[in-house]
Amino acid sequence: MRLNHRQAGRYTGIAVGGAARPRHETGRSSWIRGVWLSVIGLTVAGGALGYAENLPMPSAVPGGVDIIDLGSNTPDPPTVLSGSIPVLVRQMASRWVAIIGIPLSATPGPARVQVQEGAANRLVEYTIATKVYRSQALTVSPKHVDLSARDVARYERERVELQNAWLTYSTTPPNSLRLVAPVGGKQSDSFGARRTFNGEARQPHTGMDITAHIGDPVYSAADGHVLLTGNYFFNGNTVIVDHGQGFLTLYCHLLDMSVRPGDAVKSSQMLGHVGLSGRSTGPHLHFAVMLNQTWVDPALFLNQAKISPSTRTHQ
Ligand SMILES: [Zn+2]
Repeated sequence: MRLNHRQAGRYTGIAVGGAARPRHETGRSSWIRGVWLSVIGLTVAGGALGYAENLPMPSAVPGGVDIIDLGSNTPDPPTVLSGSIPVLVRQMASRWVAIIGIPLSATPGPARVQVQEGAANRLVEYTIATKVYRSQALTVSPKHVDLSARDVARYERERVELQNAWLTYSTTPPNSLRLVAPVGGKQSDSFGARRTFNGEARQPHTGMDITAHIGDPVYSAADGHVLLTGNYFFNGNTVIVDHGQGFLTLYCHLLDMSVRPGDAVKSSQMLGHVGLSGRSTGPHLHFAVMLNQTWVDPALFLNQAKISPSTRTHQ
């Protein structure tokens, strides 16, 4: 089942009642961290599978992910909202936790989500720490910086189309929030980089660039359904995979695409091949991860991520 959250009444416009009061979940960070570390220890020591195998690495910074213990073990999942945007929830050691994507634009300091369980609403607070991302100066074809009127019109059309795709919220929970590398090659630390193109400031980089060769196969990072395929001015040939509950992955600058919207895909199933379509300075994969309509750092989700300085860059 797939909902556009703007049309899904139960996820929007929920007011927090006057009786609700902020509740700071002291100790929940250490609880999450303790489970994480103990599972890592188990995994390393005995190869055992555990809860954290299915969760991203928590990092409560702009562009990161926080994992909040909601302190409830109700049979039905609570509804969690960040503003009006539904947040992914998951059971962990029989308790419900929220997996929150934190926008790159977030201001460090206290933040909160609304939690609805039955008729009861409450607020749960968390704290966003500071993170300084690096700067990056890029040189690209002038046509990808100084857009013609025709290209501006195309970009505006595509922006709306992609924006609508980001609003998708399919209710099926993802099998896992851990991802496999979508392509072989060096995973860069380019996520969050503050960028200039030909000397002009642009939005920070919202994905991870992975250096690869033209024609290298690109794989789905997890099970899901193909939400959208298309050719876009900046992103080039693009595939978006919906993993459920607002958890999406994006694959850009492809040479070609071997899937169509609606296709069910398995983790490591081929989606297409590496190319340099769109705004790209060399062959690579732009790989991006979205939670609750927020781009978050793919490195937090990738198994055994090896981060290296970006050598090939683009939008
Ligand atoms: Zn990129």
